[in-house]
Amino acid sequence: MNAIETRHLSKHFDGVQAVNGLSIKIEKGKVTGLIGPNGSGKTTLINLLTGVVPFSGGTVLISGTELSKVAAFDVAVYGVTRTFQAVRLFEQMSVLDNLLVVLTERNVFSALFERHKAHHYAQAEELLKNVNLWDKRDENAENLSYGQRKLLEIARAVAMDVEIYFFDEPFAGLFPEMRRVVVDTIKRLRDAHKTVVLVEHDMDIIRELPDHVIVLDAGKLLAEGTPQEVLADARVIEAYLGD
Ligand code: ADP
Ligand code: MG
Repeated sequence: MNAIETRHLSKHFDGVQAVNGLSIKIEKGKVTGLIGPNGSGKTTLINLLTGVVPFSGGTVLISGTELSKVAAFDVAVYGVTRTFQAVRLFEQMSVLDNLLVVLTERNVFSALFERHKAHHYAQAEELLKNVNLWDKRDENAENLSYGQRKLLEIARAVAMDVEIYFFDEPFAGLFPEMRRVVVDTIKRLRDAHKTVVLVEHDMDIIRELPDHVIVLDAGKLLAEGTPQEVLADARVIEAYLGD
C-alpha cells in the first residue's frame, strides 16, 4: 500500500522548474531515502508533500486522499510531520516544554500554564531519554548545541505520533554518537509501521537505512530501487560526479 503517490507533480519558481512532472510512489511502513545532487528538488518535494508551499501542477495522494491544490490546508489532518533542514524549535522554552507542547496537543500558552498529566511527562521522559536529552530537560532550547537541537527537533516530530515522517537531512553536521541516535530513532519508527521519508547526502546512511531509494535530478526521477541497485546505477554515479 502507498502512503504517498504523486502524479505529474510540478513546482516552478519563476524560471526554475524545481519539481518537474514527478510521478512517484512511497510505500507505507517503509523507510524511503530521497537523494539527489544539490538543487535537485528534494526539499521542494517535501515542502509540497507537507503543504508548506502550494504546487504548480499535478496531483498528490496522501494515504489515498487527494491533497488539495489549493494551499492553506491543515497538514495535521493528513497525519504527516517533518523536520526542517534548518532546525525550528520554541527557543525560549525548556527542552521538556518543547515536547510537552506537542504531547498535550494544546497551544503554546496553555501548555505552559496548565498542569500536565502524568502520562505526558512519562512520554516526554521516554522520548528525551531516547535522544539522550533527558539531562537537558530544564535548559532552554536556545542553549543547546547544534546536534542537540537537531535531536530535540526529531524527538518533537516523533512525539507528534503521526503516520508519515519527513526528515530533511537529519544527519547533517552530527557527531557519530548522535548519528547512531537518529538511526535508532528511524528504525524504531519503522518497527512501529510508520512511513519515513529521509533526505540524506551521506551514502553510508543511504546504504544502511532505507528499504527503498528514490533519486531526483533536476526535479525529475532519475532512478529508484534498493540502496544497492541505486548506488550501482551508472546514471546515479554520473549525476553525483557531475555535481
Ligand atoms: P535540494 O533540496 O535537492 O537541494 P531544493 O528543493 O532546495 O533542492 O531546490 C530545487 C531548486 O529550486 C533549486 O534550483 C532552488 O534554487 C530552487 N528553489 C527552491 N526554493 C525556492 C524558492 N523559494 N524560490 C526560488 N527558487 C527556489
Ligand atoms: Mg534541501
